[in-house]
Amino acid sequence: MNKELLKQNYYQAVNEKWLDKAVIPGDQPAISAFLELHLDIEKTLMDLVAKWNDDQKGLNENLLKFVKLYKMASDFEKRESLGSKPIEPVLKKILKLTSLKDLEDNYQDLVFDSISLPFHFHVMQDFKNSNNQVFYFGAAKLFLPDTSYYQNEERKQQLIGLFTHTTTQLMSLYGYQPEEINQLLSEALKFDSLLVPVTKSSVEAADYVKMYNPLSAKEIKEKIKNFDLIGKAESAVEQSVDKLIATNLDFINAFDEIINEENFKFIKSWMIVSNLISFSSHLTDAIRVAGGAFTRALSGIKEARSKEKDAFYYAYNSFSQVVGLYYGETYFGPKAKEDVRHMVHEMVDVYKERIKDNTWLEDETKEKALKKVAALSVHVGYPDELPKYYEQADIKNYDEGSNLLLESIKLRKLIYKDNLNRFNNPPNKNLWMMPASMVNAYYSPQNNQIVFPAAILQKPYYSLEQTASENYGGIGAVMAHEISHAFDNNGAKFDETGSLANWWTEKDLTAFKEKSKDMIALFDGVETGYGKCNGELTVSENIADSGGLRAALEASKKLPDHDYELFFKNWARVWRKKGSLEYNQLLLTIDVHGPAILRANMQLSNLPEFQDYYKLSKEDKMYLAKEKMVSIW
Ligand SMILES: [Zn+2]
Repeated sequence: MNKELLKQNYYQAVNEKWLDKAVIPGDQPAISAFLELHLDIEKTLMDLVAKWNDDQKGLNENLLKFVKLYKMASDFEKRESLGSKPIEPVLKKILKLTSLKDLEDNYQDLVFDSISLPFHFHVMQDFKNSNNQVFYFGAAKLFLPDTSYYQNEERKQQLIGLFTHTTTQLMSLYGYQPEEINQLLSEALKFDSLLVPVTKSSVEAADYVKMYNPLSAKEIKEKIKNFDLIGKAESAVEQSVDKLIATNLDFINAFDEIINEENFKFIKSWMIVSNLISFSSHLTDAIRVAGGAFTRALSGIKEARSKEKDAFYYAYNSFSQVVGLYYGETYFGPKAKEDVRHMVHEMVDVYKERIKDNTWLEDETKEKALKKVAALSVHVGYPDELPKYYEQADIKNYDEGSNLLLESIKLRKLIYKDNLNRFNNPPNKNLWMMPASMVNAYYSPQNNQIVFPAAILQKPYYSLEQTASENYGGIGAVMAHEISHAFDNNGAKFDETGSLANWWTEKDLTAFKEKSKDMIALFDGVETGYGKCNGELTVSENIADSGGLRAALEASKKLPDHDYELFFKNWARVWRKKGSLEYNQLLLTIDVHGPAILRANMQLSNLPEFQDYYKLSKEDKMYLAKEKMVSIW
């Protein structure tokens, strides 16, 4: 490693060779340690499905359904011959609507057909009572990825221009004439513009407790005269609904001003355009490629993925947890599951020690924090249970009169019904939010639960071929990162049962808020080479990284053969990443995770051990004065 460079840019020094050589695949926005693992798994799964395509011996019912869908998705000739016909029933349902009243009368039918609508209901755990599930209500997303893009007139014109251009091409493939396209698009954009002032920015949405705005049925009825929201919620679950949680009060307050008969023509055009885009991936090759053009342009992705890969993803996205379970059981297995579970518990113990030794918390708060760590439930490798809708799915192929778009609607209907069935019921905490084949991990504040899918439990995060210090700098820090989410600016508002409740003493809460502000300041405005980091947007992840890194280092220091450099190097290695300029800049605006280079460098600069080990001085760019370091967990 370049001894001078490591004091100026540790990330660059560790990853120099990789950064020189790494090539961003044409159909990806970036390449990174995460993505390299993802691409390996993708290859494994694509090889598997190609094998299963010819021989289904030994496959369980759910996997057989997955293969059946894959066969349909990869019958490209059939897809071409069907053209855009499969979307006609969807369009017919939208075109039939002549008024807002009509939309109201047909709302449930449209929802069940997974037709994009300007607002939606979703059942989730009640923040105030994690053992019950209630209705959340919110508006559709904007066409551009963040409200900030609408605020800068030049940027807005550029991106709306790009959206108009790519959507015009898509719509002409569907057979629309230029005048029709112009009218539909301008009306759809008009509706989009009405939503902008009542949509949260990514920074506002990062404070997710603010998503919780309970309104009683009576309050909703008083506020909203143009649409019977409570009635719709009640008929969906066939029981009385006494409250809705508004994910955004601004939208609720402006509902009647936006959703009214006068604006209905804009709403209708918005529905046509939105659904032409959202269903495009299930149709011909030209249509699916055109349908993804805007997203690719936003992320700087050079080309659409191959049709073979796309066919795989069509089937995989529909049965991801089923395939993930197979992946976990086959490539990870019960022994690794036990090993890793052991590591997590070790990390939990280190965390408990750190809370006990904490110098800025009062005993009362410490006790509650310890209770929360003790109550953490840990899930590793693959889930014990899958959602029921996979079993309920009944896949019909072309010969049986179906097509990809119809199969997708059928499956999404089962998923939505499954979601509605959760209303007024306790959650099933065995279910995971991501497949075991996904390179990721998460903390659920409502379940006070951490989940480590099998896919992430590989090199460079974790390997028996690596030293223990390297594993602590990789998966150890990831594990402690997830535990730290229980105590980030969002997680800290939930108690050990997963309910929103203040368990802090006033003094400690004030101190925590101050420390969170210090973390915001540490990252805010720091240059990355492609733009500045937003400290507020990324604060929860930066708190988790910082806590995770410190806890993992403490665990590593206990090893007889602890090696600081191997630990620091692997931390910098797991964040290696090369992205397109467009993608990097998009992430700076919308991603709650800090930019990769800062996750590596700033977090290390913020560690006294790193500074001491490399004997950094004021002249070094990696140097951060100790009194400026932010230590929370
Ligand atoms: Zn995180």
